Amino acid sequence: MDDGAQGTDAGGDERTRQPPSDFVANANVTDADVDAAFDATWPDCWRRAADLLDWERDYDDVLDDADPPFYEWFPGGELNASVNCVDRHLAERKNQVAIKWIGKRGERRTYTYLDLHREVNAAAAALRDLGVEEDDVVTLYLPMTPELPITMLACARIGAPHNVVFAGLSAEALSTRIDAAESEYLVTCDGYYRREDAFNQKSKADNARLRLDGDLEATVVVDRLGDELRTPLGDDEYDYGTLIDAHDGETVDPVARDAGDLLFVMYTSGTTGEPKGVEHATGGYLSHVTWTTEAVLDVKPDDTYWCAADIGWITGHSYGVYGPLSVGTSTLLFEGTPDYPDRDRVWELIDRNAVTVFYTAPTAIRSFMKWGEEYPANHDLSSLRLLGTVGEAISPRAWEWYHEHVGGGDCPVVDTWWQTETGAILLATLPGVDAMKPGKVGPPLPGISAQVVDERGDPVDPGETGYLAIDRPWPGMLRGLRGGDERYRREYWEETDDGWVYHTGDGATVDEDGYVTVLGRLDDVITVRSQRLSTAKLESAIVEAEGVTEAAVVGDEQGDIYAYVTTKSGVETDDTLRETVADRLEYEVGPIARPDEIVFTTELPKTRSGKIMRRLLEDITRGNEFGDVSALRNPEVVGEISSAVE
Ligand code: AMP
Repeated sequence: MDDGAQGTDAGGDERTRQPPSDFVANANVTDADVDAAFDATWPDCWRRAADLLDWERDYDDVLDDADPPFYEWFPGGELNASVNCVDRHLAERKNQVAIKWIGKRGERRTYTYLDLHREVNAAAAALRDLGVEEDDVVTLYLPMTPELPITMLACARIGAPHNVVFAGLSAEALSTRIDAAESEYLVTCDGYYRREDAFNQKSKADNARLRLDGDLEATVVVDRLGDELRTPLGDDEYDYGTLIDAHDGETVDPVARDAGDLLFVMYTSGTTGEPKGVEHATGGYLSHVTWTTEAVLDVKPDDTYWCAADIGWITGHSYGVYGPLSVGTSTLLFEGTPDYPDRDRVWELIDRNAVTVFYTAPTAIRSFMKWGEEYPANHDLSSLRLLGTVGEAISPRAWEWYHEHVGGGDCPVVDTWWQTETGAILLATLPGVDAMKPGKVGPPLPGISAQVVDERGDPVDPGETGYLAIDRPWPGMLRGLRGGDERYRREYWEETDDGWVYHTGDGATVDEDGYVTVLGRLDDVITVRSQRLSTAKLESAIVEAEGVTEAAVVGDEQGDIYAYVTTKSGVETDDTLRETVADRLEYEVGPIARPDEIVFTTELPKTRSGKIMRRLLEDITRGNEFGDVSALRNPEVVGEISSAVE
């Protein structure tokens, strides 16, 4: 195992790890001066990303910045995303696996690139036959079945932007997103399995339809459950399988899209506020996603790659579908859950499929830690060569656990920072170039200019908390918000003396080496005796305590600190552990951070995308009324926590 070298950062006992030399020997990007090279030629450097794609018409220029913040990447260029993700791989690897699907009940289906080509074409022909034209938005409300990436690519083929709504969202959320996107076409399914039970998705879609301002032209229904659930089809409703059979063998000429044309809209879930329809353009987005899939996740065509995120979120779009398929690799698509039928499900699948690159989220890693290292230890995970994480800050302890118990101590771990709005990764280490620092995301990627700034926009000193801001545009950036140019400008951008700056909304620190630690949303800050403390900083201190797996910190009206803590199974949740947690906070942050209450709980309340709902914990702490909790992934914990607090 590579122990790496000791770091010199002000943070104290920080450890720096060099990328393993056998990894570097085969990495996609190894040029140590890549950063300087991008800087010297910006924005032309981004040709390196765009030229990974096949263009129908070459772009005239790299960036048109005449009307900031409405930047146009690769103007004049024309391309089709489905050609880049499917057709162009047929010459060299038509029989290679593109998507290997594992259903919730252990069903398996494999699509080679040739199979994918056939079904994407049939689906595109079917959609067109139903009346879908270029620029019509098609809403997809499907679980993790192959029909989801297939219909996304079918939409891309005919130039119809997709609007994927996470399958677990409610009828109300679906209807809001259909209306807001002005979408008249829906692809959904009869239902899907939740653990043992068949769950009726179509009835949710029906309820959504009743709430719509307008009506749908056509609804396509995938038969996921067969005889277990028969949902009768009404007017303007079509069975997906019947449509595919009817159009099987047809080919649809891909529509050449302008680089700036809409590829998809994605409504951000968020833990607060009105959902925003984030729009991504075809050329810039696909270039940036393809480049980072290669440069950061180091994916190659001969990999077996697994991004565990649901396609209903941006990670699943960028690194579950578009990135890997554009690179031409083999991906795993898993419908199930990591603890069913047992807590070794993920490790069993990595072992059985010889997965080489695995990308997941800290929330999953913390669950794995909680369940115990015996689960990964019982499987052969030696096929893995790179691990990735995204979605939240990962504590040094969780990073080390992942590195050691999943990566066997010799896989680089890339902590990747990005947002729905950024489309693709902006901050991370390049695994073939940069040293890793557990708990720190890393530097901005080549070509990305990010700063940690204070309220006035001036860069803060190393170690000081500030705001993460991006001061140059990047190809994967949102091209705008659906129906809201003014909102786009107002919510994200500021014109300064040095040009336009994009505000990420995240708090961060940066160290002497330019490594950024992202502390989470800026509103996740509590004020204790007039000092502002980042909840993420407090939480990452708590999870360093032995036996602790997750923590959420909130403040009450008096500025008292409440820490909600979950532990590994079998750990005594007694006063000794309380003392340990409090000591950790005092040691890492200072005496001011000693919590007033520590509440042990079996789980923390989470959104469907796995983010901790601090706002709800705050309501519980303060004894406020809290609204409907059915949108949570685990509403049952609310009662448990409320009674513990009382
Ligand atoms: P979303 O737009 O839902 O994908 O969420 C984006 C937000 O997730 C970011 O603004 C951060 O607050 C958080 N986030 C994503 N990746 C990381 C990371 N690697 N480290 C810390 N926070 C992250």
